[in-house]
Amino acid sequence: MKIAVVGAGVSGAYLLNRIPGEHQVECFERRPEDKWYTVCAWGTSEPFIKDMFKSAGFDFEKYVLHRGKKMTVDLGTEQFEIKLKGLVTYDKHALTHDMIEGHNMHWGSHVTEVDGNFSDFDIVVDATGLHRALLPKIENDIVIPSLEYQVKSKELPYDDFYIRPYSGLSGYYWFFPLGEGMGHIGAGDYFGKYRGELDDFVKKYHCEVIRKIGRPVRVSPPLYCQPFTSGKVVGVGESIGTVYPMLGEGIIPSMQCADIFVEHMDDMKGYSEAVLKKFAVYAKVFKFIKAKLDGNFSLASYWPTLLSVFFYMKRNETRYGLQTKLMDLFRVLNA
Ligand SMILES: Cc1cc2nc3c(=O)[nH]c(=O)nc-3n(C[C@H](O)[C@H](O)[C@H](O)COP(=O)(O)OP(=O)(O)OC[C@H]3O[C@@H](n4cnc5c(N)ncnc54)[C@H](O)[C@@H]3O)c2cc1C
Repeated sequence: MKIAVVGAGVSGAYLLNRIPGEHQVECFERRPEDKWYTVCAWGTSEPFIKDMFKSAGFDFEKYVLHRGKKMTVDLGTEQFEIKLKGLVTYDKHALTHDMIEGHNMHWGSHVTEVDGNFSDFDIVVDATGLHRALLPKIENDIVIPSLEYQVKSKELPYDDFYIRPYSGLSGYYWFFPLGEGMGHIGAGDYFGKYRGELDDFVKKYHCEVIRKIGRPVRVSPPLYCQPFTSGKVVGVGESIGTVYPMLGEGIIPSMQCADIFVEHMDDMKGYSEAVLKKFAVYAKVFKFIKAKLDGNFSLASYWPTLLSVFFYMKRNETRYGLQTKLMDLFRVLNA
């Protein structure tokens, strides 16, 4: 088959290395190579992701910047610590770039429709993330605006992961260490509550700002991002909602989605079913976050959903790289 991968983010780049060699693959990225960047805080779970990268031929360990021991959760009135079980930051930009190297790339190709240029392709993958450039628009799509600075300072106040959730589960403020006096400070919030906070941090801790980046994160789960296919177009990654809504975590799920695509390349109905099955729990999590955002949340009615989400996180501590306690979940919910 001849396959076009549109978008060279983590899902597109990973896919380039997972599609079996007998197929002909070309990648189209809207940014020119020197302006291309991976907007992200670069946090992920090492024990889980390293095997995925191994299967794509990459040694994840080489890209690790900081191995976390604890995450401080600051609720304003109180702070507590979550023990980490493999949460790290890694140089996502370098690793994604290495995944692209050697592939047939069309940099600076902003694809907005599947026109005559794609007539000889059998499949066109929409891996354009938030843009979802080639699939029908999602009705009532929920995206969380976010902003992030990469900073450097000798006076950074934290030496490990730190988050401060905003009330009502509408988002959080983060510090993710990158080693050698560097870090990502950022914030994502449905109501944009973080305005000014990053600049205050920069001033207070005399930071050099290396890069300012930002884009909204899609938290609508796959269930609400259908259709996943349209003609010869197939969505993979954040374009079809593979972001864990509670954390805004999209690296691993986008790669998992790419793997599901590879397993079902000749069966798009099977692909859609497998994606919905794999990410069914995301729809549950989204349901109670949406209820919180809309002010319709009551513990009595959402208790069973909450409990099943807790058990899911508990079973998947290595997947998320952190220890999960029911009490911690309640503390954040009530903050
Ligand atoms: C501020 C921020 C921090 C985050 N932090 C984390 C984190 O720490 N850990 C985590 O797991 N997740 C994090 N996420 C989420 C994660 O980064 C994304 O979910 C993940 O990168 C999605 O991968 P993707 O390949 O599907 O899309 P993207 O990474 O968005 O890649 C899409 C690519 O498509 C290209 N493109 C777009 N439109 C077109 C077009 N029309 N034609 C051609 N190319 C196009 C873009 O330029 C881009 O290169 C964060 C997100 C944000 C915004």
